[in-house]
Amino acid sequence: MKVRVRFAPSPTGPLHIGGLRTALFNYLFAKKHQGDFILRVEDTDQSRLVEGAVKYIQDALKWLGIPPDESPAHTGDYGPYRQSERKKTYEEHAMRLIHEGKAYYAFDSTEQLDALRKEAEGKGVKFIYNHKNRDTLNNSLHIGSNKTSKLLEEKHPFVIRFKSPPNQQLHLQDMIRGQIAIDSNLLDDKILFKSDGFPTYHLANVVDDHLMAISHVIRGEEWLPSLALHYLLYQAFEWTPPKFAHLPLLLKPQGKGKLSKRDGEKGGFPVFPLSWGESIGFKESGYLSNATLNFLALLGWNEGVEQEIYSLDELKQRFEIARVNKSGARFDIDKLKWFNHHYIQQSSNSFLAKTLQNQQHTLSSFSLESLEHFIGLVKERETYISDIYTNNIYFFEPPLTYDPKALKKQIKEDTSDLLSEFATKIKNLAVFNTEALSNCLTTYCEEKNTGLGRIMAPVRLSLVGELRGPSIYEIMVFIGKESTLQRIDNLIQHTS
Ligand code: GLU
Repeated sequence: MKVRVRFAPSPTGPLHIGGLRTALFNYLFAKKHQGDFILRVEDTDQSRLVEGAVKYIQDALKWLGIPPDESPAHTGDYGPYRQSERKKTYEEHAMRLIHEGKAYYAFDSTEQLDALRKEAEGKGVKFIYNHKNRDTLNNSLHIGSNKTSKLLEEKHPFVIRFKSPPNQQLHLQDMIRGQIAIDSNLLDDKILFKSDGFPTYHLANVVDDHLMAISHVIRGEEWLPSLALHYLLYQAFEWTPPKFAHLPLLLKPQGKGKLSKRDGEKGGFPVFPLSWGESIGFKESGYLSNATLNFLALLGWNEGVEQEIYSLDELKQRFEIARVNKSGARFDIDKLKWFNHHYIQQSSNSFLAKTLQNQQHTLSSFSLESLEHFIGLVKERETYISDIYTNNIYFFEPPLTYDPKALKKQIKEDTSDLLSEFATKIKNLAVFNTEALSNCLTTYCEEKNTGLGRIMAPVRLSLVGELRGPSIYEIMVFIGKESTLQRIDNLIQHTS
């Protein structure tokens, strides 16, 4: 049987980073087994739809480099790929269960149900709509077929509920958790079809997984409580269920509790792959997609070896669902920074130059060649693409301030004179390259009988504003002779 897995988000907002991890694990599992990875949009909850969310999801998958084989944008043989376009199918399946006595119409109003809930609460118990009380409630099982037909004719609002079978010991299988035993008496008669004419998640999800020939369902742990109902639905339709795997939760960086949007705000890191409104995404924060992918792959999965750096191709070969952990995976943002630093170093300067130029419009007038050269000089110290620019802005603009501590330490009485004399020397250089500059400084220091640092440090201060950065000769060549002289003069003016 061909492996077919699906990522089935509800477009109720931007994709959370945990959702992207679910998509990645589905993708890796599919590719490991030469299977298909499908994107199905679960948009049956009309009240929660958010415009732009479907496009966002598709863009996020594209950015991570895990494109679906079938999706609303790239349809295959099992469409439509949006549940809102499959309404009729769900209706037919709900009716089938009704006709076979496996589901029933329920006419209970919200007020009636609320009153029952309150009454149960008063007795210290929880109200469950199921085999214990369904014969006493306002539904087709209790009121009979004549009354039911009349209410339906009168267009009385109704829902369709699943008739959970009592007294069954269910043995559910999960590829990560093993066998899970559930007593069906504990289940309630879940709504399959709502009064607005749309199916609920449970019905639509099971029907679609079957009709789309999904072989393995890989989804977040929050769906584990629904597994028993889904098994029963497969049983009711007389279908073979797919295999299931419920992925562990992503935990806060501190390790306790589920990762939330607020953790990102508190810890100053994104929780969405791409920017969404005011929320900055991983991409826009300067994280590379291959670093993010490597990081996500290890959130809950490992091969049991030391290796941490994996390319997408390696992951496609080595990913094993059986090696996914049961317990939650700590979202350690420092680890992602470490990956990002690593992948920045591995990336070609030409890739980084193009990416940086796309992000920083002020760099559009620079040639890619010079940006590549610049990146080669500074990337070793940098973790984010954006920092390559912001931490080294002195390559593009003269410093506006000088580090006061450095000024105090480096500027002596004779510094101005030494600097202006050195400036004259470099002004007269016929060739302005690193070698010539280095020779010029060495010769000048010999002439003055002084150590290199006496001049080099103030020159660096004039160029950078601080005592950091790559070789001063490289900076001088990059900014050019005129700017170099101007910056040296600026410092002389500032200190005299
Ligand atoms: N629409 C559900 C979600 O957004 C899908 C759950 C599943 O994969 O079954 O999480």
